[in-house]
Amino acid sequence: MTHQDVIDALEQLGRKRSAAYREEEARIAVERTRLQAECARIGHFFAKSRWPGDLRAVRICVFCCADEPSPAKPD
Ligand SMILES: [Zn+2]
Repeated sequence: MTHQDVIDALEQLGRKRSAAYREEEARIAVERTRLQAECARIGHFFAKSRWPGDLRAVRICVFCCADEPSPAKPD
């Protein structure tokens, strides 16, 4: 094995790690959406975020962190 082989293998590892990270992020997003839908089915409880630095104006569900929907506007 040469130094170039080592560098090439390390670069390949980096690409594999990036691909694995993207796949896991996508899997977690799907699972989070599924769990938030389940929370909606049994009923969200909305309150202002208690996380320091979270300046969102909307309230979030205390269980699943889903944003509170905006009230429907009359036609
Ligand atoms: Zn919820």
